[in-house]
Amino acid sequence: MLSLLFGLANIAAQSEPAKPAAAQVTAIRAANLLDPRSGETKHNQVIIIRGDRVEVVGEASTAIPAGAQVIDLADGTVLPGLIESHTHIFLQGEDPALGGYDIQLLKFPLAYRAARATVSAHRALEQGFTTIRDMETEGAGYGDVGIKMAVNEGRIPGPRIFTTTRAISTTGGYPLEGYAPEIEVPKGVQIIDGPVQARKAAREQMDHGADWIKVYMTHRSWVDKDGNLVSQPTLTLEEIKAITDEVHGWGRKVACHAYSGEGLQRALDGGCDSIEHGLLISEAQITQMQRQGTWYCPTIAIYYKEWSPEDTPEGKRDRARAADHEQSFRKAQQAGLKIVYGTDVGGFSWDQPIVQDFPYMVKFGMSPLQALQSATIRPAEMLGMTGRIGVIAPGAYADIIVVDGDPLQDINALGKVKFVMKDGQVYKASGTSRR
Ligand SMILES: [Zn+2]
Repeated sequence: MLSLLFGLANIAAQSEPAKPAAAQVTAIRAANLLDPRSGETKHNQVIIIRGDRVEVVGEASTAIPAGAQVIDLADGTVLPGLIESHTHIFLQGEDPALGGYDIQLLKFPLAYRAARATVSAHRALEQGFTTIRDMETEGAGYGDVGIKMAVNEGRIPGPRIFTTTRAISTTGGYPLEGYAPEIEVPKGVQIIDGPVQARKAAREQMDHGADWIKVYMTHRSWVDKDGNLVSQPTLTLEEIKAITDEVHGWGRKVACHAYSGEGLQRALDGGCDSIEHGLLISEAQITQMQRQGTWYCPTIAIYYKEWSPEDTPEGKRDRARAADHEQSFRKAQQAGLKIVYGTDVGGFSWDQPIVQDFPYMVKFGMSPLQALQSATIRPAEMLGMTGRIGVIAPGAYADIIVVDGDPLQDINALGKVKFVMKDGQVYKASGTSRR
């Protein structure tokens, strides 16, 4: 039932530092509360929130503290805020007609890119993603650390951000490319050659605020004469081992962009914590990921966008990528690999919905509950945040969303977000009433 829109979503309120006071108490009445841990939906539940944390989840008879603000969520399904494990707030789905990727680094002032990243962060939040793992700034240096700071201080609306800062690849392993050798152009990552430089780059990035380290273990990809997808390996085993050794020593983790073959193998042998994309993963590599507990962040939908014509080398590559990826995902799912939800948004425009991987996951063999878990309890575990994000339970951050319909019946319901709370603060509310 549509009652009133409350005025909290106005711009002025959000531009102020807006951390809830420690004493602020909110009670939510949830008609349908879905727990992604069990897949169980309970009815007529009460959630008591104190400050930024959930204090109590109970039946309708639960005592509501005097003075609490009460929010009635009578329609739709209440569930924990979603987690996106592969975003790029500093990319905007670069349109080649508008200068593509290169213009970002060559012509745009960092402040411009930061302004757009601020909008991207807000876009994630309003679509119900209350936590993101942002997978590098693409030449914007430590910009993600700055955006995270502004979010955490309540100066701009945005999700909880896990940063990776600059990312790492090798000479010949990342754009900008194709310029005259006499001209020094910026790179979208920090370039290293040799284990000493590799370790130093990881140290620098963590010193300046990287929560994770992102490494590109493959670069170009193409189809060989036998029709097989091939990707160029970048870091040597020695180089990646220097990075994982250093990062694990800091108690942090390494995410590896790896498409297939040798580069993917080095990522696994080198002790990477998560494989990003993983387009073509062999049976043996799936077994190794199982044994090592490696996370898999597939980013599916992006490989179905803008295919080149079928009879061109690029067109063949685009189709091979998608076909191999589907098989890899299906095998990973059947083998019970730890799969987390991530889309590579930023690689496509932030105007497009971020929920677009969910239907592919279900089509390729996940149940709707498993797909939901890949964006809640699974990444919570990967991020070392079990019990604090991805659930609505005592002690968890009060990250709560409402979607129209039941996502366990129709996964597309996750695209119909009408209420978003993060850290006990309401950022979006339509069709709810408050008293
Ligand atoms: Zn990416």
